[in-house]
Amino acid sequence: MSFGNIQTAEDFQLKSGSKVCVIGGGPAGSFFSFFFLQLAERLDIEVELDIIEAKDFRNFGPVGCNNCGGIISESLVQLLSAEGIKLPSGVIRKGIDSYVMHTDERNVKIETPLQEKRIASVFRGSGPKDAETTGYDSFDKFLLDLCAEKGANVIIDRVEDVNFENSLPKVKTKKNFEKEYDLVVAAVGLENRSLRVLSSANNLYKSPETTKTYITEFYLGTDLVTKHFGNSMHVFLMDIKNLEFGALIPKGSYVTLVLLGTEIDKKLVESFLASEQVVGCFPEGWDIAGSSKCQCYPRINIKTAKYMFGDRFVAIGDSATSKLYKNGIGAAYITAKAAATTAVFNGVSAGHFSKNFLPACKSLHFDNSVGKLVFLVTKAIKGSALLKRGVVKNVIKEQDKAGNKRHMSTVLWDTFTGSAPYKEIFMRTLKPAFLFHFILNILTSFKLNGK
Ligand SMILES: Cc1cc2nc3c(=O)[nH]c(=O)nc-3n(C[C@H](O)[C@H](O)[C@H](O)COP(=O)(O)OP(=O)(O)OC[C@H]3O[C@@H](n4cnc5c(N)ncnc54)[C@H](O)[C@@H]3O)c2cc1C
Repeated sequence: MSFGNIQTAEDFQLKSGSKVCVIGGGPAGSFFSFFFLQLAERLDIEVELDIIEAKDFRNFGPVGCNNCGGIISESLVQLLSAEGIKLPSGVIRKGIDSYVMHTDERNVKIETPLQEKRIASVFRGSGPKDAETTGYDSFDKFLLDLCAEKGANVIIDRVEDVNFENSLPKVKTKKNFEKEYDLVVAAVGLENRSLRVLSSANNLYKSPETTKTYITEFYLGTDLVTKHFGNSMHVFLMDIKNLEFGALIPKGSYVTLVLLGTEIDKKLVESFLASEQVVGCFPEGWDIAGSSKCQCYPRINIKTAKYMFGDRFVAIGDSATSKLYKNGIGAAYITAKAAATTAVFNGVSAGHFSKNFLPACKSLHFDNSVGKLVFLVTKAIKGSALLKRGVVKNVIKEQDKAGNKRHMSTVLWDTFTGSAPYKEIFMRTLKPAFLFHFILNILTSFKLNGK
């Protein structure tokens, strides 16, 4: 019951007939909708849920793609499967079971330390620009279709205004669709103009800090990808200023390059592509730049947003927080599920989100602080030939051991793929067995020469 504009606690409980708008149908928006509809059905609440998504994921190139490396850890694949979201084989481009780590001096192949640590690579849209067909389906479209099957109305349109002036938020779109809702869920990723709409509608909300990254897709054809990359992701630990991490990820007939760091620019990309480590991954004499079919410099979340919720408003996924440099889809799953559970079981006021949703964001934020420490250590290793040799020697010696005894390989695998929380990775590096072998290998690596 409402008294004028004053809303009572009961007004903030969703009930049959309530209307929910999810702005953005990327992973966060889809995960929220899926869990929300599932929980509402369990409580026998019939809610109207609209997902308004600006892109059509059936398109090729940037217009149908949410720019990303497309790595999904096996732990997330299994988690989603347990939730009833089973990734079909048509969505998975490649099952990755090993990686090749390249340093300035040598490279080493590391098999998955444990069987359950394999990863999957996907395309977020239908494929790179100019590709007529890649024979696979878009990951984001698969999730969105799943929500439609559960009863969501998927509307392809762009939200241009959100108005919180009255007791109920009102959403307006480019195609002049206008509607009042009981809850608005912002899952717009890091798109600047959409974040500006949210900040001006809800002036407490401060969008996350970001930095520029780089992605491109090289076309080689399936045979050459299989021959030169197999089922391995190639990871580069090279001492290039502003570069934290570079990876080449095989995906069917394409190989995706991802460069993460601080404000990645064209000069850095060119120097990375010209390095002998990268050139050596491709067929001899291959025109690497010429085979790049699609490229972009998307932004990535490096600091959590502030006040990502209010009465009848919650921001999730990248618009709220993410996992530093890795597993953003897994982080989107965490924030989306926490918001959906809060909205269905608790309510949609600022107080409800503060008590039940905010802890999930804080926990990701804390883990990212540990992640920054992990990347500082990685940076120190990248800058020291001796430490790099120590790591490589350690990894080589471990390959004959049982999976659970390959401490360094597991730490690197989880750091590169985002398969485990940074806190867990960091704690493992403090174990005496890890430190003993690492220090021993540094001390003895003075003698290690060449490849
Ligand atoms: C270079 C790079 C590599 C990455 N690699 C990986 C990886 O390998 N694995 C991984 O897990 N994560 C990776 N990530 C992170 C991952 O891409 C994100 O964390 C994830 O996509 C977040 O999902 P989201 O739904 O919050 O946002 P998004 O995926 O960005 O989805 C937001 C959606 O909202 C829509 N939208 C925006 N504004 C509007 C509007 N006004 N109206 C309607 N719709 C709107 C957009 O069209 C989009 O579909 C990477 C990121 C970068 C930058």
